[in-house]
Order: sequence, then C-alpha cells, then structure tokens
Amino acid sequence: SIPVYGVPGTAQERTFIAVKPDGVQRGLVSDIIGRFERRGYKLVGLKLLVPSVGLAKEHYADLSSKPFFAGLVDYMTNGKAPVIGMVWEGPSVIKQGRVMLGATDPKAAGPGTIRGDYCLSIGRNICHGSDSAESAQKEISLWFGGKGEITNWTSNNAEWVISDN
Ligand code: GDP
Ligand code: MG
Repeated sequence: SIPVYGVPGTAQERTFIAVKPDGVQRGLVSDIIGRFERRGYKLVGLKLLVPSVGLAKEHYADLSSKPFFAGLVDYMTNGKAPVIGMVWEGPSVIKQGRVMLGATDPKAAGPGTIRGDYCLSIGRNICHGSDSAESAQKEISLWFGGKGEITNWTSNNAEWVISDN
C-alpha cells in the first residue's frame, strides 16, 4: 500500500488542504470541498479540530521569524472556530490545489480562485494548500500521520476522470 502522503507525480499524488478558522466561520467549507470534488479529486482524509499551538507552530515553522507569526498561530489556534484538515488525491493535486486556492494575498488572487472569490486580506485568506511534494509529505504526516486517519479507496469515477496515456 502507498504511504499516507501518496506518490508525487502519479495519480496517487496527495496534498494537504485546510479550511482555516475564518473559512469555517464564514460557512465556506462545503464550497471549498465541492470545488475539489467536482474537479475530480478524491478525498482520502478529513477532520475538524482546533489545532494545538505546537501543531500550528510546526505547520508554519518556515515562517517562525516573520513579524506576523504570533498572530498567525493565534488565528489558527484560539478556538473561535476550528480548522478543517483534508487530504486530497489525484493527478497534479499539489500544484493544482495551489492554483485553485489562488495567490497568498487575496488582493492578487484571480477571479475563479477560492481566495479571489471569497476574501480580501492576507491575514484572513481562508485556506491552506501544500506548496510542494516535500511540504505535502510533512503536512500530511503532521496532521494525519500514523493514526489510521487516511483511507485508501477506489473511486468508481476514476475511469471517467483519469486517462493520461
Ligand atoms: P500560503 O502558502 O499561500 O498560505 O502562504 P505562506 O506559506 O507564504 O504563508 C502562510 C500563511 O501565513 C498565509 O496563508 C497567511 O495566512 C499568513 N501570512 C503570510 N504572509 C503574511 C503577512 O504578510 N501578514 C499576515 N498577517 N499574514 C501572512
Ligand atoms: Mg505556505
């Protein structure tokens, strides 16, 4: 069986997508899930939680020296709303997930993207997606790894969605 973080570069590529607390509070969970479902990607992990400070700091470790880091960790962990964490699988899902999210700063995000359609500020940009295969491996392992929370299953849509050769 494949590792929880999938096999980058294949139809079993996986990425970590999250709806941040502002996206949950604003009722955008179903829209964000629906976009990935309708595109043809397969949901293999899903959870709702208020992340611990430790989890949020590890998730955003590469930003720990930034002036907004403390505020970012508080926004993710203060419990005013939970986070939805997901693992999505399919061809180029890491790159295409980022395209579907749109630019980090919503003011630069194009229409048709999640951020371009629903938000205005970099500090309240409603969603997260892994930015590389290395990040996907780290983030899926961090949020889901080792707990039996990823489900391998066969989508009966696959033959109607995927034909790359
Ligand atoms: P992402 O991968 O597109 O989410 O962007 P980054 O990895 O660069 O940053 C992670 C998250 O930190 C972003 O999604 C924002 O929530 C937050 N962030 C990044 N830059 C800024 C900033 O300049 N100000 C604030 N307040 N938050 C920021
Ligand atoms: Mg990032």
